[in-house]
Amino acid sequence: MRYSSRTIARLPADCAPPRAGGKTVYKLVRTSRLYEQIVQQIEESIVKGDLKAGDQLPAERDLAQRFGVSRTAVREAVKALREKGLVEAYSGRGTFITDGTTQAVRQSLDLMVKIGQPEGSTHLAEVRAILEPEIAALAAVRIQEPELTTMREAVAAMDRAGQDPETYIEADLDFHLALAEGAANPLILSLLDSIVGLLREQRLRIFRVPGGPERGQIHHKRILDAVERHDAEKAREAMRSHLSQVRDDSQAPAAKRAPGKHAAH
Ligand SMILES: [Zn+2]
Repeated sequence: MRYSSRTIARLPADCAPPRAGGKTVYKLVRTSRLYEQIVQQIEESIVKGDLKAGDQLPAERDLAQRFGVSRTAVREAVKALREKGLVEAYSGRGTFITDGTTQAVRQSLDLMVKIGQPEGSTHLAEVRAILEPEIAALAAVRIQEPELTTMREAVAAMDRAGQDPETYIEADLDFHLALAEGAANPLILSLLDSIVGLLREQRLRIFRVPGGPERGQIHHKRILDAVERHDAEKAREAMRSHLSQVRDDSQAPAAKRAPGKHAAH
């Protein structure tokens, strides 16, 4: 889990109960469905600061027991919380309280990218190119052992990923976010987190370019090495090369053949 910011998620305005009387056009709705009560309680915990960005929600079974409801109700509650952007589920790792600002930025950027296709992802790649080399340089100075461990694990996971794009892409995200976490600036982390998750399609395309994942790994290992040695200049350079490799590979034609393979006649 990469959220280290302690910003408490602000609740959407529509969470406030509608006022009765006056000029309010909305009627009081009293459908207190089970899952809504769970959502409300979790929201209250976030507002009070009992639950903070980065905290993991207990497993579905535990929550069901705690609230004395069915797992279906819990599932619905988690779904509603996700739609509100208050929690985020990571496959295999669980559900976590999000930093509301990250979510808000991500949603706006996501929309901008979708509206601005196909230039949208080019613009995002530009933002990465501006941010990430400096992130790498900062991280080289500030990174702590836990983030280094995450980076090493991510590199190992990408080595093991083989033909499985999901594993590779997840680990790739982990790698870049751990580095941003290493820069020890929650705003930077929040910004990068909003951006890198949006580039899944681009990552999938690169994964399918012959040699793409292997080329990526060469750069990941160089970045990791530089950061481990606390060499800011090398880390910055290695990240620059990685991003230009990403740019080249993402523009590579789909029919590109791996070196050494025979072209179709
Ligand atoms: Zn990468």
